[in-house]
Amino acid sequence: SNRFDGKVVLITGAGSGLGQASALQVAKEGAKLSLVDLNAASLEETKRQVLEVAPNAEVLLITANVADEQAVQNYVNETVEKFGKIDGFFNNAGIEGKQNLTEDFGIEEFQKVVGVNLNGVFYGMKHVLKVMREQGFGSIVNTASVGGIRGVGNQSGYAASKHGVVGLTRNSGIEYGQYGISIKAIAPGAIMTPMVEGSLKQMDPVNWEEVGKQFVQPNPMKRFGKPEEVGYLVAFLLSDQANFINATVIPIDGGQSYK
Ligand code: NAD
Repeated sequence: SNRFDGKVVLITGAGSGLGQASALQVAKEGAKLSLVDLNAASLEETKRQVLEVAPNAEVLLITANVADEQAVQNYVNETVEKFGKIDGFFNNAGIEGKQNLTEDFGIEEFQKVVGVNLNGVFYGMKHVLKVMREQGFGSIVNTASVGGIRGVGNQSGYAASKHGVVGLTRNSGIEYGQYGISIKAIAPGAIMTPMVEGSLKQMDPVNWEEVGKQFVQPNPMKRFGKPEEVGYLVAFLLSDQANFINATVIPIDGGQSYK
């Protein structure tokens, strides 16, 4: 039987990359979807792709900025009003921000990245956990990064926010395990999504594919990860099968974190 039959999965950053790939995977396995993104057009595109792989899927689209707590409260309320519960929450929306040496790192840039990647994840957990504790079940997957486990450099805002996501995951995981709720983070390495394509194109608008090949040479597997590989992991972690995986962070990075 399908792991997500009758289940409701809420995903932020669902218009692109890892959020979109995960939406497709859980929809294939029977999930009803509540999809959140800043970008309304990209949500429509995800819905179109979902209905191709799961023609009977129920899909709610919500345009919202996860850095705004009221907007987060609203997307949680709208999801519960439509579907009555939240089984799985992929708390994933994030931005990379501009790269800079620490002493040159702009305060506004720092606040902006932390506002989306850390505040946004915290607001999401805060409001979804209230629902999950009342229902007595649920699982949350937060998107951290290799940059949330080890230093990467030139990414003060990103590093602070993603290490923070790991901290929030551990903290809330030990609080909510007693209610049957499990909370984990994933730490993706370089996955070829529009975010990564964008930063490669910033480095070299013409030969960005070549730059990409060089970029992954230090990786033990010498390639980028694929969004669907993250989708398989997220689907497993959101499923009942992964309930005992709690308050921890799972790398998906070809071995980069341990090199
Ligand atoms: P992406 O840019 O392809 O997708 C991110 C989506 O989030 C976009 O649709 C964007 O509109 C949305 N978003 C951005 N800010 C938002 C906001 N304030 N409110 C609501 N939606 C917002 O990027 P991706 O590669 O799929 O990244 C997804 C997550 O994975 C991010 O948290 C990112 O930091 C993390 N991550 C990605 C990689 C990678 O290599 N791709 C590696 C490690 C971590």
